[in-house]
Amino acid sequence: MSNATRGIAYEEPLVFERSRPGRRGVGLPPLDVPEVDAETLLGEALRKEPATLPELSELDVVRHFTRLSTWNAAVDLGLYPLGSCTMKYNPKLNEQLARLPGLALAHPHTPAAEVQGLLELMHELEGQLASVSGMSRVSLQPAAGAQGELAGVMMIRAYHASRDDTRRRKVLIPDSAHGTNPASAALNGYDIVAVPSGDDGMLHPDAVEAAMDDEVAALMMTNPNTLGLFETHIGRICEIVHSGGGLVYGDGANLNALLGLSRPGDMGIDVMHFNLHKTFSTPHGGGGPGAGPVGVVEALEPFLPVPVVEQTEAGGFVWDEDRPQTIGRLHGNHGNVGMMVRAYAYILSLGADGLRRSAEMAVLNANYLLTRLQEHYHVPFPGRVMHECVLSDRGLAETGITTLDVAKRLIDHGYHPPTIYFPLIVAGALMIEPTETESREALDRFADTLIEIAREAHRDPEALRTAPQRTRLTRLDETRAARKPILRWQPQDAS
Ligand SMILES: *Cc1c(COP(=O)(O)O)cnc(C)c1O
Repeated sequence: MSNATRGIAYEEPLVFERSRPGRRGVGLPPLDVPEVDAETLLGEALRKEPATLPELSELDVVRHFTRLSTWNAAVDLGLYPLGSCTMKYNPKLNEQLARLPGLALAHPHTPAAEVQGLLELMHELEGQLASVSGMSRVSLQPAAGAQGELAGVMMIRAYHASRDDTRRRKVLIPDSAHGTNPASAALNGYDIVAVPSGDDGMLHPDAVEAAMDDEVAALMMTNPNTLGLFETHIGRICEIVHSGGGLVYGDGANLNALLGLSRPGDMGIDVMHFNLHKTFSTPHGGGGPGAGPVGVVEALEPFLPVPVVEQTEAGGFVWDEDRPQTIGRLHGNHGNVGMMVRAYAYILSLGADGLRRSAEMAVLNANYLLTRLQEHYHVPFPGRVMHECVLSDRGLAETGITTLDVAKRLIDHGYHPPTIYFPLIVAGALMIEPTETESREALDRFADTLIEIAREAHRDPEALRTAPQRTRLTRLDETRAARKPILRWQPQDAS
């Protein structure tokens, strides 16, 4: 257990509450302007009672946040194999460019004429995403993959409505889909029809044909699917849906395996979202700002969210709000522009060849790991994978050790656990995505660790059942943590 995440054990007791009455973190200079009565200045807006705030010195605050940051897993500290979430390294160059004052400090309401550079960047990023995906146009506005999906399904609904095709109330979704797919369709008022995957983990044309009728508005599919497999029947499946008058939504959250190699638009996809915070290396996690641009084929362009950036004949850039068939606005401003700058920097710094190479390396790394692990863990759908692979705990059944135990034990070795118990069609799934940014040595260390854990399951199952042992806290009540999170500081006496 040499590479666990422990540094020096600072003599700091594990207490959260550090507020002390009267302790201050700032020192203000003496007042050097005429004093104005607060009541006169603020009137009704003046608080009746002072706010209850923690009272801390600057040093208390610095230590608190620095300590918390080191208790977390981070992609800057180690391999973060979270399947479907693509925790790839975020190059620091992206960060440097996103901090350029002209970009970082631009107010969202600045007139277009004064932020031409930013609009040009957005216009170019739209073009890059369109050309990588084979879509006709892209809106950068959605703030997450799920919001991109919502926008995409809204456009599908608007498309059918514009043709007075009102019978369509169903959306077909394979049983391997990410949970956001049915959620996006249901939020648009559609009924969800689950389509079963075949024994090989893929969607088959006959299953789609059987589910297809003139009430189907769309099929939502993910390629590569959540098992990491390339849906080889996608061309035929799109034909079946199109010939029945439906559209095909492509969940492009994970384009890591396709960049520069294959394009959803060429496969027959009509609408798709991208996750800049997955494929395009912008920071991801903690509920921070994401970006889930949504792309469409030509027939759906009129429905794009407003505003869209247009280039004028003179070569300048404007916000176009005048789009009568638009689904409307999805964000108070223009989306999370800082993420767009990072993704733009990433795409330009790699170039077309670099993007293709990143996809090839992502696929190679996933297959390398799978090959090293397949003798030690059950592989529900054997064969070549794309950017991620799915294992299960079936081979450990006799030891009583489950996927959850394996995941928790990985934490003791300094790894963030992979995605677990998803996709739902694999009992005890461990979904591993190494990404292209990991070296051969890092992959070997990770594989060695997982192999050692499989051996330990037979030799010393208790060590796994009680893991993690090297963290500040061990197993938490995850349901309570999710259902009743304590997200902000409360004064101690007000429980
Ligand atoms: C991550 C992901 C989403 C949702 O993206 P968010 O940005 O988390 O909302 C949708 N589909 C798939 C396959 C994903 O991996």
